[in-house]
Order: sequence, then structure tokens, then C-alpha cells
Amino acid sequence: MSIHKLDDRALRRMVDKAAWLIETGRVVRISNIMFYVMGKRNRHIVKIEGDKLACTCPGYKDKGICSHVLAVMAILEMKDGLEYLDEKIRERIRKEWAAITRGGYRA
Ligand SMILES: [Zn+2]
Repeated sequence: MSIHKLDDRALRRMVDKAAWLIETGRVVRISNIMFYVMGKRNRHIVKIEGDKLACTCPGYKDKGICSHVLAVMAILEMKDGLEYLDEKIRERIRKEWAAITRGGYRA
């Protein structure tokens, strides 16, 4: 992974985005080695490959690191990270459900 190739501002933006992805319930574990990440516009898969993470997004291909990988990395490092993730996803679904029943749903 090539985090040191990024300048501070780019790294900060990436960390902020990773936190946003987690906090808004956009990171979903789909198997032991795969996470589905719902970005603002696109969907990506982060895969655990041995001791490293890889993502399907163009940013990862380009830089070898991306906010999606950072988000999954943070979850894996976090004590009870997967439970935290589930909690955030449930929160997201509750909000979407509330919007649907209010008739104000936007995908
Ligand atoms: Zn990515």
C-alpha cells in the first residue's frame, strides 16, 4: 500500500471520506473476505487478499489506496468493528424507511 505517496491534504480527504462511509452505513460486509461499499455515485467491492486489501475503484488502481480500503481497514482494526458497522447500517435503513413512509425517499 502506498499511503506515503499521498500529500497531507489528499490523505486527510481520504480519511474524512472513509469516516463518512462508515458513519452513514455505506460499508456492508458480504462475506469473510468481501465488503460492499456504497459511494456517493458508485459501488465498490473491497476484498481481503492475504494480508492486504484491494478495491475495484479506479482510485485504488491508480494510487494503491482509497477511502473504501481505509474504511474497511479501520473497521477491521476496531474492537467490535463489525458490530459497529451493523449498527450504522441499521441506522441507515431506519432513516431510509422513515423517508419512504414519509414519501420523501431519494435513492
Ligand atoms: Zn476504492
